Amino acid sequence: VNEPRRSFWGWGLEGVGATESERALIAAAIRTRMGVEPGAPERPPRIDDLRLRRPRITPPGALAAICSTDPYDRALHAYGRSYRDVVRGFRGLFPNPPDVVAYPRDEADIVRLLDHCSSAGIAAIPFGGGTSVVGGVEPAVGEAFAGTLTIDLSRLAGVLKVDERSRAVRVQAGALGPSVERVLAPLGLSMRHYPQSFEFSTVGGWIATRASGHHATLRTHVDDLVESLRIITPAGTLQTRRLPASGAGPAPDRLFIGSEGALGIVTEAWLRVQPRPRWRSSAAVRFGAFADGTGAARALAQSGMYPANCRLLDPTEALLAGAGDGSGAVLLVAFESADHPQEAALTRAVECARDLGGEPAEIRHRGPDDAAGPGGSAGAWRGAFLRAPYLRDVMVAMGMITETFETAVTWDRSDALDDAVLAAAEAGLRDAGAWPAIVTRRFTHVYADGPAPYYTVIAPGRRGSEIGQWDLAKTAVSDAIVASGGTITHHHAVGRDHRPWYDRERPDLFARGLGAAKAVLDPSWIMNPGVLVDPP
Ligand SMILES: Cc1cc2nc3c(=O)[nH]c(=O)nc-3n(C[C@H](O)[C@H](O)[C@H](O)COP(=O)(O)OP(=O)(O)OC[C@H]3O[C@@H](n4cnc5c(N)ncnc54)[C@H](O)[C@@H]3O)c2cc1C
Repeated sequence: VNEPRRSFWGWGLEGVGATESERALIAAAIRTRMGVEPGAPERPPRIDDLRLRRPRITPPGALAAICSTDPYDRALHAYGRSYRDVVRGFRGLFPNPPDVVAYPRDEADIVRLLDHCSSAGIAAIPFGGGTSVVGGVEPAVGEAFAGTLTIDLSRLAGVLKVDERSRAVRVQAGALGPSVERVLAPLGLSMRHYPQSFEFSTVGGWIATRASGHHATLRTHVDDLVESLRIITPAGTLQTRRLPASGAGPAPDRLFIGSEGALGIVTEAWLRVQPRPRWRSSAAVRFGAFADGTGAARALAQSGMYPANCRLLDPTEALLAGAGDGSGAVLLVAFESADHPQEAALTRAVECARDLGGEPAEIRHRGPDDAAGPGGSAGAWRGAFLRAPYLRDVMVAMGMITETFETAVTWDRSDALDDAVLAAAEAGLRDAGAWPAIVTRRFTHVYADGPAPYYTVIAPGRRGSEIGQWDLAKTAVSDAIVASGGTITHHHAVGRDHRPWYDRERPDLFARGLGAAKAVLDPSWIMNPGVLVDPP
């Protein structure tokens, strides 16, 4: 039996999209909530309809066995999965497919591929799960290269060893989230790292993009899970030492965490793991407006209690996720532990939120003997969170613009940033003719010194011009974020799409230092060109 394969244009596996009833619900919600008539759904393209440019390069005989120029392989690796990517894929627009896709079987294959790319002037693009939302895997590298070769890590996907004593797991970079958890679960362990893209993103991709899971505090980014790394660069291979901590100079693995394939290919990592939580206590606390709940979110972030969830949803966000009725904001709070019940922590958090104007509801406690997952607002929110990527494809087919953007900012500037971003989003969408629109927001993560606000836009698009419309709005909000003291990304990474704002955000001298590191590790500048840093 053939396994379903990944959709070459949309989210997930072919044939596993949204259901008919989900489609009908979305159309009805667009009508009633926005007063907009959704377009009749267009049909997605078939692989046989695509007319891809002929490959400009031919892999040498020794590499031919691991290389493909099959149209499906080239289309699948032409984009990540941002809104812009899904629209272009859906319309069958593939101006820059990789010329060749390679599937290395081991590290020796990767060394041979990088040697070949360096000597032949071919751009090499590392590819994990292809869920980048910032143009990180798109082979749009200009004309300076003989061609583009995407290096897909899916054959290096083993979970090699679990060190239960030190609580760490050794994993190959191409491993998808669920495959690592399947090995850890019987041992009572977990990475506790759940990006929304968990099912289809890889350990190597998380490390290369500094991905963030959905837990709201403490180890939010993968950075803190990484104990050591193994990397193949065009200049050689390096392995960092496994250590719980070290004060020995700048940490070598930190240079590669977030390097987005521009310095080399992560082939393996030791990641810290934890006992699986067995107790969970949660509540949904209602507030009037979003701004009424930010004080409680800040108080909890600064309380030293470190809730696993501390997600403030604005009224519309709560409504769309089924976590509220749209009349007020909702703060979802939860504590988890592998060791002891969490009633006391939740009671304290609820008391704190009540003091700051919240109305707590849906207080739930679960222990090791309770089988059911989280119900109520938290359960509804979680369900909506996991279905969202499939539903986005349906909205694209109906001609709707639907995308998210995110940042992080210190508390002293967060209110002003929020005002500036909402104003810029409205102005940008109106200028683009994408109005009436819905712009919702939530805090995905909260730190003692500031929140990570996350915005979702749903707007009517003009078929064929939606990308230009979205780009106008995205430029306006990105300008507002950086001008308001935020970062261009809390966890989506830089890629090609965020480069202009990343360049403004980082110190020039740092950019030169990074360029110098790249010149040593990648002397022919063939690794993922256009991402992070350009040749001098
Ligand atoms: C619906 C959806 C939800 C998402 N939710 C989240 C979320 O909750 N949190 C979050 O952080 N992100 C999220 N993302 C973004 C994306 O999933 C992350 O950036 C993820 O870490 C990418 O992993 P990947 O394996 O798919 O990498 P890819 O998309 O394949 O690659 C991403 C970048 O890393 C490089 N790269 C990949 N593998 C390697 C390697 N082994 N060595 C060197 N470089 C490599 C690529 O060249 C590229 O620059 C989401 C994306 C989508 C579409």
